Amino acid sequence: MSATAEDRAAELRRQLRHHNHRYYVLDDPEVSDSEYDALLNELRDLEAEHPDLRTPDSPTQRVGAEPLDKFEQVRHLQPMLSLANARNEEEMAAWVVRSERYLARQGVEMGDVRFVAEPKIDGLAISLVYENGVLVRGATRGNGEIGEEVTQNLRTIGAIPLRIEDAPPLLEVRGEVYLPLAAFARLNEQRAEAGEPTFANPRNSAAGSIRQLDPQLAASRPLSMWCYGVGALEGLEFETHWESLEWLRGHGFRVNRDVERHGTVDEVVAACRAWEDRRDRLDFEIDGVVVKVDDLDLQRQLGVVGREPRGAIAWKFAPSTATTTLQGVAWNVGRTGHMVPFAQLEPVQVSGVTVRLATLHNEEDLRRKDVREGDEVIVMRAGDVIPQVVSPTAKAQKRKRRSAPPAPPASCPACGTPTVKPEGGVWTICPNRTGCPGQVFQAVKHFVGAMDIDGLGEENARRFLQQGLIESMADIYELTVERLAELEGFGEISGRNLVEAIEASKRQPFHLVLYALGIPGIGYVNARNLARHFRSMDALLAASEEELTAVEGMGPIMATTVHETLAEERTGELIERLRGYGLRVEEEGAAAPAEGPLVGRTLVLTGTLPNLTRPDATARIEAAGGKVTGSVSKKTDYLVAGEDPGTKLTKAQELGTEVLDEDGLLALLPSDAPPAAAAAPRRRR
Ligand code: NAD
Repeated sequence: MSATAEDRAAELRRQLRHHNHRYYVLDDPEVSDSEYDALLNELRDLEAEHPDLRTPDSPTQRVGAEPLDKFEQVRHLQPMLSLANARNEEEMAAWVVRSERYLARQGVEMGDVRFVAEPKIDGLAISLVYENGVLVRGATRGNGEIGEEVTQNLRTIGAIPLRIEDAPPLLEVRGEVYLPLAAFARLNEQRAEAGEPTFANPRNSAAGSIRQLDPQLAASRPLSMWCYGVGALEGLEFETHWESLEWLRGHGFRVNRDVERHGTVDEVVAACRAWEDRRDRLDFEIDGVVVKVDDLDLQRQLGVVGREPRGAIAWKFAPSTATTTLQGVAWNVGRTGHMVPFAQLEPVQVSGVTVRLATLHNEEDLRRKDVREGDEVIVMRAGDVIPQVVSPTAKAQKRKRRSAPPAPPASCPACGTPTVKPEGGVWTICPNRTGCPGQVFQAVKHFVGAMDIDGLGEENARRFLQQGLIESMADIYELTVERLAELEGFGEISGRNLVEAIEASKRQPFHLVLYALGIPGIGYVNARNLARHFRSMDALLAASEEELTAVEGMGPIMATTVHETLAEERTGELIERLRGYGLRVEEEGAAAPAEGPLVGRTLVLTGTLPNLTRPDATARIEAAGGKVTGSVSKKTDYLVAGEDPGTKLTKAQELGTEVLDEDGLLALLPSDAPPAAAAAPRRRR
């Protein structure tokens, strides 16, 4: 063996250990997954060529990283393993052939072998242990043998049943906890607004939420979980993986409905490609498809090699991250006047789309990430979340001659007013708060997004402002079909549709109205917390700074800003106008429960249900922690469809939203809600 191979292997191990620590322990990776995978593959190849180099502690042989001692550590009942990868059709076919040969050598016939193809969720692997139907322990994967006990945090996730009926004495459920993409975007936006570090990707935000000591924090994030298998089990037996998934689904666990079973490699490959096509339309991040041998006995016989079971393989998608060069940093003005940096990039393909511009969030984030012009940077795209610059690559950070850190502009890029940095503030702002067209545009854009006004996208908002049709967000409610029909590209029908969408936005709940106002410090989560706490606009307006700090998530500095902004005359005028148009200024219904099977879920109702009236269905969903909205969007988790469903059903089918009938809805509600007819949500087609 050459000394060079030995040195290189040692260097690769050192680097991989470092990246494992950043990724698994700190939830703050420095390199993209593809860069990490390239290092791991190089080490794997070296070890294959020189088996002597393979040590038991090599990163190729170990899963994850050591668990943190700030948590109780628990030994898993069965090891939580990693997965071998297939990057293309040939590698997938080779895996099947390898499995058959292996079994043949053991004297086992594979027979009519079947495979289950399921999405590979990019979240945090979790094991849930139920004793006699009660959730007694939840843990992270840790190093595969020993994980961190995070039961309290997991209990805050509505999708995780705390108790199940007809349960065996011991059941371990495995799955992936994740943060839906829309929630990830909102969370990062809020963190950017509050000057806190943003999360590199949805996986890290989910991991960061679960692996912290305060369950309140986990509860404030709409985490969810997809379950994909059973680990340890006593008192019950499954013959196939498929059967175990059906059982889990029937017992209240979230198991993806689009998981499929196939008989040939060709079918499996087609399923993998179909998931790749669907990837961008999902509200959660997936980085591949996991293909498993369905027969559990065959899986056992196939056994484990190193850290990977032979009976399963991960088909990996093209990465949603890429590296490219940062050509420059340009600036926009945000809705509250702060300068917002964005990256101008050498065009790069990220999961099939060419990316030229990416967000850098805010001045503070830019400083923290320390990206400079000319740097090689990591860019990430997740679903429809705006591409973002994650960090400079390790190579860029080591460059001897880097350019100076980018500085915010001396004058506002939208109105030319000299910018200022208020004393004690972290951000440079444009002080022209009422006259800056950039700020007004951002405020209107934010309002329209928050109120979910279909048909009034960014382009129209810009146009309406430029043409003087509106001057502020409140003017939106003065738009008429006649006025719109005069505009080029707008006919009677599109005008009417837009006016209807504007009208529908008046039914949005108070917390969204509050969020839509765009008050510094009131991001989505704070808006929800403030609305829950004060229940009405008047109570909020009357609140003292001290009373504001009593609300979850409100620190003293934020409370001062919120208090000051609410007291401003122009804020008061805006609120009164919106109130006058009929927008909701009171949180409706009973205070939303913090626990329940539908916490964090958004449902839309359409058509006539056989037994439940609309108000009944809405009340039951809300009592289970869910939210009911008027139109189907990417944020909708379920469409509940009755007779004569209309266009909402078509829209849901286009978006791949799960569609339930009444029985399906009832099955999602707590079992004390009569009359729960079916054991599992039924899907309509
Ligand atoms: P893996 O992510 O490739 O596969 C194993 C994991 O897939 C399982 O543990 C499970 O949690 C998950 N999974 C998701 N859906 C599943 C399903 N339906 N069925 C079964 N399992 C499912 O392997 P790994 O060992 O967890 O981690 C490697 C990944 O982490 C790679 O993508 C790697 O790039 C990334 N990583 C990145 C860095 C970095 O610095 N960027 C560092 C370490 C690891």
